[in-house]
Amino acid sequence: MTMHVFDIALTVPFRGITRRSGVLFEGQAGWAEWSPFPEYDDEEAACWLRAAREVAEFGLPAPVRGAVEVNGIVPALAPAEAAARAVASGCATVKIKVAAVGQSLDDDVARVAAVREALPSARIRVDANGGWSLAGAVDALHELGAFGLEYAEQPCATVEDLAALRARDLGVLIAADESIRRAADPLRVKAAGAADIAVLKVQPLGGPRACLRLAEELGLPVVVSSAVETSVGLRAGVALAAALPELPYACGLETARLLAADVVRDPLAPRAGIVEARSVEVDPDLLLAQAAGPELTGFWLDRWERVRRILEGER
Ligand SMILES: [Mg+2]
Repeated sequence: MTMHVFDIALTVPFRGITRRSGVLFEGQAGWAEWSPFPEYDDEEAACWLRAAREVAEFGLPAPVRGAVEVNGIVPALAPAEAAARAVASGCATVKIKVAAVGQSLDDDVARVAAVREALPSARIRVDANGGWSLAGAVDALHELGAFGLEYAEQPCATVEDLAALRARDLGVLIAADESIRRAADPLRVKAAGAADIAVLKVQPLGGPRACLRLAEELGLPVVVSSAVETSVGLRAGVALAAALPELPYACGLETARLLAADVVRDPLAPRAGIVEARSVEVDPDLLLAQAAGPELTGFWLDRWERVRRILEGER
């Protein structure tokens, strides 16, 4: 099996990174992406590899719908830039990043206000990535809720704080993301009454089929999101979204535009807010064009070998 290490610039800084790298490989059922963020330890990266192997060996789950509505993604940008990006997404639902490191609630309010002004009828959701304390989240949702929020994603870091915030009944639904995908027990959010909505990501949660099982166990409405992947990784997220029995919310799968390049000629980007659940063809020339340099390639091959051994130990 040939491993192709890619290294692609982002069009805009996102969650503190400016480039995205990972491994692409082809199994008997098709191409797969393994791209755990560099700071994640080997145990966490092992879930991501289980996901990639599942896709490469067994392919994607059978769809029940042919296309998926997605949300436009707005990083923690200045207000005018944020509004321009929201409009350019062409999506009826927009997700705005808030509580970014080094920014204040005033920055978040200005960003959300600018997007709301530019898109008066859009559904707006915010994602704090666990950046608020419980008290901070109460303040923030009071202020940001005035602009009309569909939901707030991971407003606080812990399941306990999410549950306490949700119990306050501030009129904004609570979605759990990190509390599911980085938790020892992803079902705790359900038991604790900590969330109205579950955000599921294919790679961190061990594959599309594991996500389908988890969705059933959680019994919550699911929003499928990507982990800022190439169209190969994105395809697995679209497949999960297309296979869920119910899909009441737009999904976080509009991330192709965050990458300055891709490994397919026709990236899995939305048209009018919709991503088709169609196959993607890896282009050998683009694969070569996005290939990482020797140092980064070495990092990924070493990491692969360590993480592969963790998975072998589980068998
Ligand atoms: Mg999130």
